[in-house]
Amino acid sequence: MEGVRKRILVLGGGFGGLAFVKAFDCPGVEITLIDKENHHLFQPLLYQVATAGLAAPDIAEPLRTLFSKRKEVQVLMDEVRDIDLEKSLVRTPHQSLSYDYLVIALGGRTNYFGKDDWEKHASGLKTLADAHRIRNEVLGAFEMAENLAEDNAERRRLMSAVVIGGGPTGVEMAGALAELTHRYFRRDFRRINPKQARVILVDVADRVLPMYSESLSASAKRQLEGLGVQVMTGKKVEDIQARKVVLEDFEIEAENIIWTAGVSANPVVEKLDTPKAKGGRLKVEPDCSLPGYANVFAIGDIAALEDAKGKQVPGVAPAAIQMAKHAAKLIQAEITRGRSQGEAAERESFVYRDKGQMATIGRSRAVASAMGREFSGFVAWFAWLAIHLVTLVGMRNRLSVFMKWIYKYVQNKPGARIIWRAAPGRVEVERTSDRLVL
Ligand SMILES: Cc1cc2nc3c(=O)[nH]c(=O)nc-3n(C[C@H](O)[C@H](O)[C@H](O)COP(=O)(O)OP(=O)(O)OC[C@H]3O[C@@H](n4cnc5c(N)ncnc54)[C@H](O)[C@@H]3O)c2cc1C
Repeated sequence: MEGVRKRILVLGGGFGGLAFVKAFDCPGVEITLIDKENHHLFQPLLYQVATAGLAAPDIAEPLRTLFSKRKEVQVLMDEVRDIDLEKSLVRTPHQSLSYDYLVIALGGRTNYFGKDDWEKHASGLKTLADAHRIRNEVLGAFEMAENLAEDNAERRRLMSAVVIGGGPTGVEMAGALAELTHRYFRRDFRRINPKQARVILVDVADRVLPMYSESLSASAKRQLEGLGVQVMTGKKVEDIQARKVVLEDFEIEAENIIWTAGVSANPVVEKLDTPKAKGGRLKVEPDCSLPGYANVFAIGDIAALEDAKGKQVPGVAPAAIQMAKHAAKLIQAEITRGRSQGEAAERESFVYRDKGQMATIGRSRAVASAMGREFSGFVAWFAWLAIHLVTLVGMRNRLSVFMKWIYKYVQNKPGARIIWRAAPGRVEVERTSDRLVL
């Protein structure tokens, strides 16, 4: 190894960034991991925070504690604002950081397809703040409905939710909302009947879960309808206004509107002068590096890649983890051999190993495909539970989620039915001269 210590900057502590740092094991190399949050977030269970099944700390783990034993790993809670590929610099409001290798794992954001004003009426589901917003608004709407027993139209609107987007997140969200309102609320109100609550799932495609086989899509639809979800496929959303979704031929009045229809790349990379794919994702070489910048890798949801077998790498957690391990292996090999940064063409290409896909719909309901076989109902649901429990980051989280799932299953009561409002402005991080103040 050369005398000067190499410096790797990892942007984002989500699935990709975390897996990279965990996989990179090369003494004498400095790793700096930057994330605007202080925690890694397990997004696949975010919908359960939104629907009061789990609390935020159950699905998040502080990044600093994850690497407290790795002295060469520095964790910074800071927001990446700019990446200067020519000068090999990353800028935040508080500092400029140089690098020998850069790993961009900043993920995506909710995409309203150019209709950004829809965001104020229809919450996305990407962050813990989104999940808390949805939970507060859903629980709050039922409290309001209980207070307005005389006004039927208003009560119907308050007890209605529309989920837009029939992909896995929309299906899971709609199923969990129906279960929350129809099953878990049913004994708790006196003036309203929560079984009359409406959950409507809307998608422009002609079936839910279009990335699954037709038979699994049909099974998912049946299972959703069994929970009381109204599935409206082949319906384009024309407009979203306050408490109203406008479709081509009619409108739906609903207090809660949730948007799960699209994801685009993190806007931080918009300014980068490198090739982009749909949704602003960074096109990468077969080794996951940026074209023309062999020392810069983009992994996970922010990257667009057709792998060495011609398969479009999907925006899912296993893909981000596999790309992270691939980049770690390449960089580690170059550093330990004392070579300067390699050429993308000389490096091993990334191959995505698809281990299957699954989506849960509610208690004992799910669909899954793996190892060339398809499953639905209880078997798929049980497999979903086991896989999510095992892959959740942090032993404390696994134990906590396991206990809460058992309690919910046996007692029919979700564990986090609290309307919670943060005190505004209390935890803003602000720079004054040379120190950070909280
Ligand atoms: C609701 C939901 C459910 C999902 N369910 C599943 C599922 O069941 N199975 C599955 O495989 N996949 C699922 N996914 C997709 C999966 O979560 C993503 O594919 C995966 O998170 C991508 O990993 P990543 O590292 O690219 O990005 P992320 O995990 O999103 O990580 C990006 C990180 O960058 C940080 N960051 C962003 N901007 C900045 C900035 N400017 N400065 C500093 N830090 C920043 C973020 O805080 C975050 O920690 C789901 C996604 C969502 C939103």
